[in-house]
Amino acid sequence: MNPAKTLAEKDLEYIWHPCSQMKDYETLPPIVIDHGKGVYLYGEDGKEYIDIVSSWWCNLLGHCNPEINAGIKEQLDRLEHVIFANFTHEGAIRLCEQLTEMIPKGLTKFNFSDNGSAAVECALKMAFQYQYQTGHPERTRFLCLSEGYHGETVGALSVGTLDLYAKLYRPMLIDTVRVPAPDCYRCAYGECRDSCQCQCFEQAEKAFEQYAKEACAMIVEPLLQGSAGMRIYPPLYLQKLRRLCDEYGVLLIADEIATGFGRTGKLFACDHADISPDILCLSKGLTGGYLPMAITVTTDRIYQAFYADYNEGKAFLHSHTYSGNPLGCAAALAVQNIFRQQPILKNAEQRTRYLNRRLSEALEEHPNVGEIRHIGLIHAMELVQNKQTKQPFDPKERMGYQIYQKALDEGLLLRPLGNVLYFNPPLVITEEEIDKAVDRCVTAINQVL
Ligand SMILES: *Cc1c(COP(=O)(O)O)cnc(C)c1O
Repeated sequence: MNPAKTLAEKDLEYIWHPCSQMKDYETLPPIVIDHGKGVYLYGEDGKEYIDIVSSWWCNLLGHCNPEINAGIKEQLDRLEHVIFANFTHEGAIRLCEQLTEMIPKGLTKFNFSDNGSAAVECALKMAFQYQYQTGHPERTRFLCLSEGYHGETVGALSVGTLDLYAKLYRPMLIDTVRVPAPDCYRCAYGECRDSCQCQCFEQAEKAFEQYAKEACAMIVEPLLQGSAGMRIYPPLYLQKLRRLCDEYGVLLIADEIATGFGRTGKLFACDHADISPDILCLSKGLTGGYLPMAITVTTDRIYQAFYADYNEGKAFLHSHTYSGNPLGCAAALAVQNIFRQQPILKNAEQRTRYLNRRLSEALEEHPNVGEIRHIGLIHAMELVQNKQTKQPFDPKERMGYQIYQKALDEGLLLRPLGNVLYFNPPLVITEEEIDKAVDRCVTAINQVL
């Protein structure tokens, strides 16, 4: 190893970064972060970045949050990990107890894993096996929404429908039924998100009529299709879907990995529609963005379908080495305590109004900002070539990526989704920090467009 090399140069010698064309790093080398505090990250050179994307949506309550730090440190000197089959520990038990009060009603059984994709895989297998063990071995397929994203492992990728991530791998994937998702910005029915009756739901009805008999479950990202470009659809759609699933005996899996823990203005996106799924996937915000942990939560009804004498062969033989990791549980418990003791949602609601006003004032009239949409603190700006026709930019121009680069110069981590720029900040962001972030964002946009 050559000691004269910078850390960034050494990084490129060894590291294959996620979701990256590594050749891009020739012009935009990896940024070495030394430490973080609240919404800020600091480079080794001391440069400040506002983490407006919550480091891939997981940082919920700021970097190096003193209370979460303390929770993990305390656990660290007690127990770092223990096999979770037949063994347990206080942190996991207390966490489930607390989560039960927080998550949608009726979800009482918690199956731990260590990342979002794993939580989705677990949900799919659970749904499949549930149907099998309750007299429906013919129900083998999954329904999902177009433009959905549920992670990168083979099962999760199969129920995801973003061609960008999945198309190449199609021959490896399981066959699913795709229901065309609501597309509120470019609504084919000429309706508007805030007032429509979800006419587009007829697409789901059609798909259920044709395929529901062979389907064990439908999986959705409730209200917000994050990776698709922060596409937002009305709660009514979710209510209709809950009813339709019940009607056809199809389980509803809510992937709240991105939307959970206050991101959408309520604790969970399902709360907007006042529904409970049969299976709920949690991850990203669960540990405040500290440690990789995920939970697949389900109902007692589903749990009971697996509960039998061992030799009946009904057990859910699904496991991950790091299931229920005590450090992760300690971080998640600290997050729970913060939610209990501090008015996190109320503050986030005020900040939402403020951010909404600031972004609207700054960018609503911009000729290339087609729509500014938001749910909770999550705000997305869809960049278009033509605002009247909503014609998108050619993806090859990489407008979003160009703005991302400029924003980094300005001290804002604004990693886009294609040509959709978005803010999804830690819920504890202040008005002053919002001001700075909006100013930096506008400067970056104006430099490129
Ligand atoms: C991030 C995400 C996942 C995947 O989680 P990983 O921890 O990255 O595997 C699944 N579903 C949704 C909705 C997500 O946002």
